[in-house]
Amino acid sequence: MSQLFRHLPSVDSVFGELDKDSGLRGLPRPLVRDLVNEFLDIKREEIKSGVVTDAVELALENLLPRLESFIRVKARPHFRRVLNATGVVVHTNMGRSLLAREAVEAVVDACAHYSNLEFNLVTGERGSRYSHVEKLLCDITGAEAALVVNNNASAVFIMLETLAKGREVVVSRGQLVEIGGSFRIPDVMAKSGSILHEVGATNRTHLKDYEQAVNDNTAAFMRVHTSNFRLIGFTKDVSLEEMRELGDRYGLPVLEDLGSGSLFRFEGAGLCDEPTVQEVVAQGADVVSFSGDKVLGGPQAGIIVGRRKWIDRIKSNPLNRALRIDKVTLAALEATLRLYLDKDKVRETVPTLNMITMEYKTLRGRAGRLAKVLRSELGDAAEISIRKGVSRVGGGAFPEQDIPTSLVAVAPGNISVRELKERLLATEPPLVARIEDELFCLDPRTLDPKENKLAASALKQALGI
Ligand SMILES: *Cc1c(COP(=O)(O)O)cnc(C)c1O
Repeated sequence: MSQLFRHLPSVDSVFGELDKDSGLRGLPRPLVRDLVNEFLDIKREEIKSGVVTDAVELALENLLPRLESFIRVKARPHFRRVLNATGVVVHTNMGRSLLAREAVEAVVDACAHYSNLEFNLVTGERGSRYSHVEKLLCDITGAEAALVVNNNASAVFIMLETLAKGREVVVSRGQLVEIGGSFRIPDVMAKSGSILHEVGATNRTHLKDYEQAVNDNTAAFMRVHTSNFRLIGFTKDVSLEEMRELGDRYGLPVLEDLGSGSLFRFEGAGLCDEPTVQEVVAQGADVVSFSGDKVLGGPQAGIIVGRRKWIDRIKSNPLNRALRIDKVTLAALEATLRLYLDKDKVRETVPTLNMITMEYKTLRGRAGRLAKVLRSELGDAAEISIRKGVSRVGGGAFPEQDIPTSLVAVAPGNISVRELKERLLATEPPLVARIEDELFCLDPRTLDPKENKLAASALKQALGI
């Protein structure tokens, strides 16, 4: 055994060989040295435990291919691209919305150069970072004023902290939602220092329930979009118009956490009718908050629009400084919002809208092309077929609503479909999709045709061909 140890190549001799591999040459030297040492340590362990018994296995030329792939895998960034073939468009675990080309370009520009982030180009003095998007948001939504913070969770938090700290907020029991990632309305309210005054029953809340809750310590009425669940059957909700009237009668603001918050009408796309931000503003909500990266299709942000009187108070809350957005977000958000100015084109230019509203015949065509690529690349290692299926919007928007799609189903020859799914997590790039009827199903709604070849390559790696 001690003989074998002496056959292990030295770190320096390994280094000399690795330098010839152009793919590894760009990596930081100390990182490569550490990884070589780690690899040689593994070999030493294998000698000790009797896994390696032959000196030939330890020859440099025999170790090299495995060492190179070891380094390649270990040295790659932790945060990486993933192929999303799940058909869930706003997939929170995979980065929600993809940015439009214009937004990506604005981000690159904002990162590579200095900018007028907080610099007024008219006066040459300090400006406001929010000036870049406030007017756009007001023009698009019809609101008097607007503000943007880190995400919608912080938007709800700062709205309550500013307008209702130490006072009561009236909310229907049917709207006390948990949206996942530990965001629960009652908990956020408690943290903001406001006091939850629940009214109604889980399934039914009437105007008189809200009215009876009003007392000297009431600060606001609040409505919360139920996002990821649906209340069906014997239900009753109070309309925004009715709430507005009640608010006026008692001089209290009506706050609305819209969740996903759409600026685009989806009803034509076969999705049920959801009010847009514009409509909620027009119906008289005082303050409306929503996400930038759900169905809006922009960067992570929490957008707050509404009446100037309330928005100004939120703006001057010192917490605003702690929740402020950075220049990267701002650049992406302005570019995305500008696309909404062209109502006829926005469905094409904003990827999230494009994917959600993609027509079945387009999806069928995409599935056909993907199936063709997979058949030619995978040969008889898997059987490829096309079947009907459903996609989801995701991000808590349009829950329980199926959108028809065309799926490409992969039936692996030599391994189980579960094994295939698992192996695809470790391919380059990883490929995520779902299993249906013992078939691995790829949804072309969220897989760009430009990614077909990459998907084929991932499947080849997973199938070992
Ligand atoms: C998604 C959502 C939030 C949180 O928004 P983030 O942008 O993820 O912080 C809050 N409220 C509702 C109703 C939501 O759907």
